[in-house]
Amino acid sequence: MKENSLEKIEKIVSLCKRRGFIFPGSEIYGGLANSFDYGPLGVELKNNIKNLWWERFVHQRDDMVGIDAALIMNPKVWEASGHLKEFSDPLVECEKCKRRFRADHIDPDYEKTKKFNKSIKCPDCQGKLSEPRQFNLMLKTFLGVTEDSASTVYFRPETAQAMFVDFKNVLDTTRRKIPFGIAQIGKAFRNEVTPGNFIFRTREFEQMEIEYFIKAEDWEKVFETWQKEMWAWTTDELGIEKKNLHDCECLPENRAHYSKRTIDIEYDYPFGRSELYGLAYRTDFDLKNHFKEPPYEDVESGEKMYPHVVEPTFGVDRSVLAVLCDAYAEDGERVVLKLKPKLAPYKVAVFPLLKNKPELVEKAKEVFHDLKKNFVVAFDDRGNIGKRYYSQDEIGTPFCITIDFDTLKNDDVTVRDRDTMKQERIKIKDLPAFLDGKIK
Ligand code: ATP
Repeated sequence: MKENSLEKIEKIVSLCKRRGFIFPGSEIYGGLANSFDYGPLGVELKNNIKNLWWERFVHQRDDMVGIDAALIMNPKVWEASGHLKEFSDPLVECEKCKRRFRADHIDPDYEKTKKFNKSIKCPDCQGKLSEPRQFNLMLKTFLGVTEDSASTVYFRPETAQAMFVDFKNVLDTTRRKIPFGIAQIGKAFRNEVTPGNFIFRTREFEQMEIEYFIKAEDWEKVFETWQKEMWAWTTDELGIEKKNLHDCECLPENRAHYSKRTIDIEYDYPFGRSELYGLAYRTDFDLKNHFKEPPYEDVESGEKMYPHVVEPTFGVDRSVLAVLCDAYAEDGERVVLKLKPKLAPYKVAVFPLLKNKPELVEKAKEVFHDLKKNFVVAFDDRGNIGKRYYSQDEIGTPFCITIDFDTLKNDDVTVRDRDTMKQERIKIKDLPAFLDGKIK
């Protein structure tokens, strides 16, 4: 890995901590390995991503409805879906330093041969590695007051199963005809063998998933359409550069147990190219597992059937990470997050030119409160204007407004653009329309 790439991720991690995007979880108690908390700016960025996704894929479409299901489902769900049996990773342990690795991560042929190459040594200390054993990724917990096996339940390892389990309820209440989709945003949990790389792989994360129900014969066409849709989302809404994105066709031995075709959309993270999103053709595997009788009746032919499923799945935290990596730029001394305005935690910051002039502060507060009715706005009166620009650039605020003595005479302000650093005078009354035009 290139040194400056490693440096870049360290800079992003440090910026996230310093400015309140992402903190190490439970930090005052020494942390909890690979857990992270989104701070005041991080939650805004993450919510902006989730809201845009919901708007684009649920509200703007005629063929989609949403749900928000329980995190803990009846354990029979995971038996039927195959997760209890199949959802595992091969784990090898170093006999010397006791570190654990995924066999498929350190032996490139493992997925194909299912045999671990014994000549491979521990990547950390060159110690001898154990035989691989399957390690189930589902996170267990107990419901009820006793910890007997009858009350063992699992935190969902994907949001998808709820869309299958609730399929009939959604159908009966919405009278949808295929093709249509069910979308959900929510947390998922996996007891990952090797979490790491900041928020790239954690044990608790969020997904935005769609199960799109179709006729079997349409799957290839639908798959291609969703592939394009996923790219359009990533480039147009998240603003990620095309050159940093790649389609990767998964080989049969690398596909999940339910999938007939999978494409990973990969992103060039500073630590290397890795999965951002996935697109899978899940066939009728899931609905068949959950429903004894076909749950869908074709209105025209009256035929009872199991619809097939194409699943576009988007990791929320990996979206946040890719957006941060793509937006991070250095311009001399200036660090700037070139976030799309729609994603930026604050859309605009308001400054009084001088902190010790009450008339300027009062006017600035007035503009600030007025803009707050329509936008998420920051107020800053610390230090000098240059420092305030620097600080807003670092968190990606697209516009900064300064209230000066001319404002008091002419009712206009200076608006400074984050990317061009150009400044222009705008009448206060025109600010909402000006900002709206730039942001939307
Ligand atoms: P990987 O190969 O990286 O383990 P996966 O193929 O198992 O990922 P999926 O089961 O397809 O992942 O999950 C859908 C999406 O959820 C992924 O594309 C990713 O964005 C996100 N995701 C999966 N696991 C994690 C994790 N441990 N931490 C953060 N996001 C994750």
